[in-house]
Amino acid sequence: MSITLYNTLTRRKEPLVPLDPDNVRMYVCGPTVYDYAHIGNARPVIVFDVLFRLLRQVYGPEHVTYARNITDVDDKINARAAEERVTIRDLTERTAAQFHADIAALGVLPPTVEPRATDHIPEMRAICEELVKRGHAYVADGHVLFDVSSMPDYGRLANRSLEEMEAGARVDVAPYKKGPMDFVLWKPSKPVGGAGKTLQAEPSWPSPCGIGAEGRPGWHLECSAMSEKHLGRTFDIHGGGIDLVFPHHENEIAQSRCAHDTPVMANIWMHNGFLQVEGEKMSKSLGNFITINELLATEKFGGQPWHGRVVRFAMLGTHYRSPIDWTVERLVQARATLAELAETLGGVAPSASPHPDVMAALEDDLNTPSAISIIHGLAKSARRGNDATAAELKSALQFLGVYDNEKPDDFFVGAGEKQIDDGEIARLIQARLDARKDRDFKEADRIRDDLASKGIQLKDGKDPKSGEIVTTWELRR
Ligand code: AMP
Ligand code: ZN
Repeated sequence: MSITLYNTLTRRKEPLVPLDPDNVRMYVCGPTVYDYAHIGNARPVIVFDVLFRLLRQVYGPEHVTYARNITDVDDKINARAAEERVTIRDLTERTAAQFHADIAALGVLPPTVEPRATDHIPEMRAICEELVKRGHAYVADGHVLFDVSSMPDYGRLANRSLEEMEAGARVDVAPYKKGPMDFVLWKPSKPVGGAGKTLQAEPSWPSPCGIGAEGRPGWHLECSAMSEKHLGRTFDIHGGGIDLVFPHHENEIAQSRCAHDTPVMANIWMHNGFLQVEGEKMSKSLGNFITINELLATEKFGGQPWHGRVVRFAMLGTHYRSPIDWTVERLVQARATLAELAETLGGVAPSASPHPDVMAALEDDLNTPSAISIIHGLAKSARRGNDATAAELKSALQFLGVYDNEKPDDFFVGAGEKQIDDGEIARLIQARLDARKDRDFKEADRIRDDLASKGIQLKDGKDPKSGEIVTTWELRR
């Protein structure tokens, strides 16, 4: 078995050749814990959980180390703690616990290690010292800054030259920076009562490089220190969302490689595409986000709560590198598929290893949509009475974390009996047809999703005589 993965660094698919097959090492940037994680944040967590499972299957569970950190020192955390008038520790502890509960419901395994930034401050100071000593960083105005001009291939991951980046740099570059793209490794902390209503001092630790006043690390430095501590100076895979390519990962690479004089930080860099709602990235700053918790426990999305495995299955329906459009329809379909699979596989004992075709699809750059279409084919064969296939299919679904031994009905959390009467359905179907005639597809889709959320699945067909579109419906649950 051999795994092939797309590497952002080289822009092609490459076979994974572990540095040490007895200890395959992967680092993924984890959440900054100041608020509920949204469903976009769940994407890397689920995607890299599938990869973690695959690595364990191929190399043996005891031969894989997966580190996914928790960023518990960050300006957004300070600001939120001040706003809520709670201590930083209370906020980060509470948020991290919520994150764990949310992703456990999505079938995500705990990583091997989950380092916290605040437990690695001495390691961060050591990297600062090393970088200054080697001429890659300088001290200015209480900060330690990385000098990007000292690294000839800065920009290689982002595939942009320093000149290009500098040309696009903002005009209001901090006066203490030598070059506009130089970035912060360490910065001063404000005492109590700093910027307005600070309830507490910004977190601070003794500074490195002879800086007298206390300070705190920059975000990029945190991941360099944690990955080195838990995985070594060079490791196999580094992952995160596509938005992290620049500057976060570019800067992690700069820090780690220049501090340790290594040719690479990680051999393969993987990035998941965005999860979008109506064509826009789901993010806190755009305010268009649904938290994992809301999706699982409230009626905010599509008028009902959704089972964690349904969410996971829906997420895996799109390849991890493509953008994914998060819709009610997607969840309805995932739920219908899982319920059908549960119907077929209820009494089946899983085989010792998952069906090889499903594994082969995953080994090809985690091709989950292909794995799912294989699953559909296997389910057909299982329904025709092929017991060996049924056993391997069940094992594959359990391996993917999308099904354990649920009954079909278990996937319908809160989707009670039909929540709408036949007359209203007919009226909405007509309204949708009218909207389509007026080419108002947004409205037409809205009506379809609204009905889907109530368990009403529409099917469009053509009347063979008149050629007109006829819409029928069925209750899916
Ligand atoms: P953050 O807490 O913002 O640092 O994000 C945690 C992880 O979620 C990072 O790997 C981000 O790249 C990823 N992420 C954030 N928003 C989205 C989104 N809309 N779609 C996919 N991944 C995202
Ligand atoms: Zn990181």
